[in-house]
Amino acid sequence: MGLESALPSDSVLTTSLNRVVNWARRSSVWPMPFATACCGIELMATACSRFDLARFGAEVMRFSPRQSDLLIVAGRVSVKTLPVLQRIYAQMAEPKWVISMGACASTGGVFDTYAVVQGVDQFIPVDVYVPGCPPRPEMLIEGIMAIQRIIDEDNIPRDPSGKRRALNIALRPNYEPHAQPLPVTIGAT
Ligand code: SF4
Repeated sequence: MGLESALPSDSVLTTSLNRVVNWARRSSVWPMPFATACCGIELMATACSRFDLARFGAEVMRFSPRQSDLLIVAGRVSVKTLPVLQRIYAQMAEPKWVISMGACASTGGVFDTYAVVQGVDQFIPVDVYVPGCPPRPEMLIEGIMAIQRIIDEDNIPRDPSGKRRALNIALRPNYEPHAQPLPVTIGAT
């Protein structure tokens, strides 16, 4: 029982090749997880049944860059690890996208030291920045959906040499900040 059962068997659909290709691309994003720290745990949680990344067609984590089109950098990257990250990015096939997940990947976070890269976007193009320390799985899913919307629109900016430019989309935090400390009322009903 599927869509085809609701349509006459001799139906014809017409569309542009671009739309079909983009639909297939955005419905089957294959992430390459580059998880180095605590953000990686949230990345793993995103694929579990509670959040179910499979609903967005992006649960097939590949551990080979040649089979991936979405690099998710989750966690701090040390200067020593950086060449590995750059090599993985270079080995991924075009078109490819990059998510910088969490404060550490985007800015170095609290690790303001000579050994930690102060933002991976200094070395690889980042399309979507997911804020948080760590970002919740919903926030990462929002980042993946932002990439899917861009793929849908076929909006891949290129420079004059034909090389793809980073999209540089920063998501807004999806929580309401509260003044600290929170007031506590004992015995309130
Ligand atoms: S942003 Fe926070 S949760 Fe993520 S790797 Fe850094 S310290 Fe850990």
